[in-house]
Amino acid sequence: MLDTHDRSDRFHEECGVVGIYGHPDAANLAYLSLYALQHRGQESAGIVSSNGQALLAHRGLGLVADIFDERQIRRLEGTSAIGHNRYSTAGSTVLRNTQPLVARYTYGSLAVGHNGNLVNADELRLRLEHQGSIFQSTVDTEVILHLIAGAQAPTLIDRIIEALAQLRGAYSLVFLTENAMVAARDPYGFRPLVVGRIQDGDRQTTVVASETCAFDLIGARYERELEPGEVVLCTSQGLQSYKPFPREPLSRCVFEYIYFSRPDSKLYGKSVYQVRQAFGRQLAREAPVEADIVIPVPDSGVPPALGYAQQADLPFEMGLIRNHYVGRTFIEPRDAIRHFGVKIKLNAQADVLRGKRIVVVDDSIVRGTTSRKIITMIRSAGAREIHMRISSPPTVGPCYYGVDTPKRRELIAANQDVEAIRRYITADSLSYLSQAGLYVALQQSQAGFCDACFTDRYPVPLGERPKGSQLALFELDR
Ligand code: 5GP
Ligand code: SF4
Ligand code: MG
Repeated sequence: MLDTHDRSDRFHEECGVVGIYGHPDAANLAYLSLYALQHRGQESAGIVSSNGQALLAHRGLGLVADIFDERQIRRLEGTSAIGHNRYSTAGSTVLRNTQPLVARYTYGSLAVGHNGNLVNADELRLRLEHQGSIFQSTVDTEVILHLIAGAQAPTLIDRIIEALAQLRGAYSLVFLTENAMVAARDPYGFRPLVVGRIQDGDRQTTVVASETCAFDLIGARYERELEPGEVVLCTSQGLQSYKPFPREPLSRCVFEYIYFSRPDSKLYGKSVYQVRQAFGRQLAREAPVEADIVIPVPDSGVPPALGYAQQADLPFEMGLIRNHYVGRTFIEPRDAIRHFGVKIKLNAQADVLRGKRIVVVDDSIVRGTTSRKIITMIRSAGAREIHMRISSPPTVGPCYYGVDTPKRRELIAANQDVEAIRRYITADSLSYLSQAGLYVALQQSQAGFCDACFTDRYPVPLGERPKGSQLALFELDR
């Protein structure tokens, strides 16, 4: 098992980050924020706090609610804290890859939480290893810590800027030291990062998070997004903003609108829920069909299905019911039950579906395997016709910037046309939202967004993996 360090296990870095500065319950607020951001990563989570003298950490594998209890939160004392939750595939789910990562160096301690994916991490890592750095994890993020430790600048903010200047790709970052917090968003703005404030009398708390839904839970007021390329320093002196990098083409991830963000978040200045409904309305204009009812594939299909039903003037029904308590492990039946895997999560209601012509709305088709099972299930429940409508264009490429999409060869739309996909998923008809329609619904132009997984046009190309990398060594004791 030497060469397990396949490049692909770096593509699974969609995460949630949070930072709290200036609050007596900082770790508790970080915990609640991670709870609100649980959809962004379920593999592991961690919080690092500062009591002014030292950093304290607690990290674990699994869900936020299972990792932390009251005792640990109390132990994470201090008025500042950062938190992270991580989505990853099994290959890299090990505790030492769990963030925030913490390091000690000449100037004290430094913790970091990262959402995104660097395209030159291997290159940087190899260079650092040649210079004598010893890595403890396999996450890109550790490269950032080594770059900061090796930076020559005299102040923290300048060392961070010196390190960030060497990164290519996607990052939304939170850093914590004994007395400062720093947040940064890459110059392309791939991943979201928002700033808010909690005002309590004279006390002001600065909060940063991947999504605004975290602010709603902790009673913070949304202020603004971090600008692409902006680095923000929070100290007892207040908040200072830096824009040290050259401008790059704005490339905000459009897939956050389609699937990833929580619908109750405000993203790039708009309600995710309303945007998804608009996708559904546009889809109904582009791909109408004679039908009796519109049903979503819950949960991600619900807002676009509502939009579709409103535009088409058709009844919206819940023909599929989702079990919200599905964990990662369950005891599989010894004898094969048909479509067991999908049934455990979704159940088709025959009383709603029987004899009907049905529009089924989902946000995306990735491999096509789930869609195929869902359609079979709906058909077994007695549906007469099934018209699949997808509220995004065909997913034709993997994401290099931090979203967990599989390799190109596993993406059904990268290899087959819409008619072949329709046949595979066994739908009576299949339509996707068009590229142009996506931006009509957004009421914005394509410029400003990354949509590489739909267009194959990547704002930052993926570098070649350097030859002779020693990276595999770090997977040995897994
Ligand atoms: P498929 O038919 O491709 O097997 O599955 C499609 C389903 O996967 C859709 O319901 C969509 O919501 C979901 N999906 C799309 N992108 C992602 C992702 O990045 N992660 C996860 N867990 N699900 C996704
Ligand atoms: Fe988002 Fe797709 Fe771009 Fe990745 S490739 S950042 S998922 S739009
Ligand atoms: Mg879904």
